[in-house]
Amino acid sequence: MPKERRQAGASMISSLSGDTPDSKKRKRPEVHSVESTPRSSRSRRAVAEVQVSEKVEAKVETTKNGSLTVEETEEVKISVQKSPGRRAKNQKVSKPDSEDELESADEGESKSTPKRKATQPKNSLKEAEEEEDEPKPKKARKTKEEKEAETMALAPRTIGLKMFVGAHTSIAKGVENAVTNSLHIGGNAFACFLKSQRKWESPPLQNSNRDAFRKALIEHKYDGTKHIVPHGSYLVNLANADEGKAKQSYDAFLDDLRRCEALGIKYYNFHPGAAGTGSFDEAIKRLAGNLNRALSETTTVVPLLENMAGHGTLIGGRFSDLRDVIAQIKPEFKSRIGVCIDTCHSFAGGYDLRTPEAFQKTMQEFDDVVGMQYLKAMHLNDSKAPFNSQRDLHQNIGLGFLGLRAFHNVMNEPRFEGLPLILETPCEKPDPKDPSGKKTIEDKSVWAKEIKMLESLIGMDPTGDEFLSLEKELSNKGKKERADMQAKFNEKQEKEKKKLAKEREKGQKSLADMFGKGGGQANKSAAEAKK
Ligand SMILES: [Zn+2]
Ligand SMILES: [Zn+2]
Repeated sequence: MPKERRQAGASMISSLSGDTPDSKKRKRPEVHSVESTPRSSRSRRAVAEVQVSEKVEAKVETTKNGSLTVEETEEVKISVQKSPGRRAKNQKVSKPDSEDELESADEGESKSTPKRKATQPKNSLKEAEEEEDEPKPKKARKTKEEKEAETMALAPRTIGLKMFVGAHTSIAKGVENAVTNSLHIGGNAFACFLKSQRKWESPPLQNSNRDAFRKALIEHKYDGTKHIVPHGSYLVNLANADEGKAKQSYDAFLDDLRRCEALGIKYYNFHPGAAGTGSFDEAIKRLAGNLNRALSETTTVVPLLENMAGHGTLIGGRFSDLRDVIAQIKPEFKSRIGVCIDTCHSFAGGYDLRTPEAFQKTMQEFDDVVGMQYLKAMHLNDSKAPFNSQRDLHQNIGLGFLGLRAFHNVMNEPRFEGLPLILETPCEKPDPKDPSGKKTIEDKSVWAKEIKMLESLIGMDPTGDEFLSLEKELSNKGKKERADMQAKFNEKQEKEKKKLAKEREKGQKSLADMFGKGGGQANKSAAEAKK
């Protein structure tokens, strides 16, 4: 097992299993070397050596909404060394106040970049700069190494793993920021939107953003053809029966695909859409037709159909839906279509992943129905809703109904090696400035910790104490929320049962008439999707 893997695992466990007094005070030394420049341009550019060593006292707590939060008192020592000609820099800061660390992770997605400049003195590195004894002239712009060191504040990336874990990162203030935002949380893969996901109209991708993104990928060694999977807009429904709306969807979809190609990104994940009131098969036909057209208008990008929780008439709730779409992709484009499995959606859609046996059975079914060769990415989310509930509610890893064992299965599945594994888990914590405790703010350290935790599961003995205590701890954190959700789910099912019984009683005759006419494809498929 690679050294880094062990280290990441050990440090994660120490920061997560903060129950025993002993584990609260564990040293977490880490040294990471980052080569910031591609080999080809090394003659022109410097190579930055960033060393981070930390002593962290961590206490993990659960917020009201079930997210993990970590209170840390830490001492961080960072040294950034450039090649000869540039001065080396040593920074040291002690932070006795745990509040500081929490705040440093506060930059909400939408406000992260501007805030970092103006009001982010809490960031450990930024703070170090400002508290440095040596007076130095105020600079209008940060140097490259300062920027780079800043992005390493939450967690360094684990190098050398076969599993590429990351999260859905923000593109606020430019798509290129997705790269550094991923670096910031130690992600080895990432997802992002390519434009506003809730608006139809977006300004075109600027050449300057495109170039900055491509440069950042090279600089930080992210492979755009493997580990980056942008997420499509929630508005797009390529299966829409309405011609005008379908065109709007198609245009937005194609625009995204072209952005991928401009940015050097191969995979693009999107929701297959919904059939609405019409025929399910016709909807799949329209979706496949639009995909064929979009593939003919692009050259390299590979759209990935995401499996869905199977609510209502959504396409993708069954693996067979995905198969039926792929079956209608023209032979010349078959190599340019793929699938992204979302663990929460699978589970809520009735595909179990909890035990090794259930996990293997689901994977076998996927392979039989769709084909493992189409699996190009995964979304790693626990589920707030129970099994087969058709509810799409993401939960933090280990806290939901899937539980940590499911993710142990995922992280040790050889067929997932090399795939981007993307977290879309909640990352909020209560706003300390809100006395009511209702407001939340983003806490990206949640993702940084989840990435390290998932990585630590690689090769971990699921029957050993290390795994079992972590599993138990996370499960306990999510216990109340699971109980609440289960109660709601039971209540809803009870209501539906009563409603159905009433309807049956009321309209035995009309029901018989309906079946007599054959029901209709949409009804049949909707029932099938609901399973
Ligand atoms: Zn999605
Ligand atoms: Zn997803």
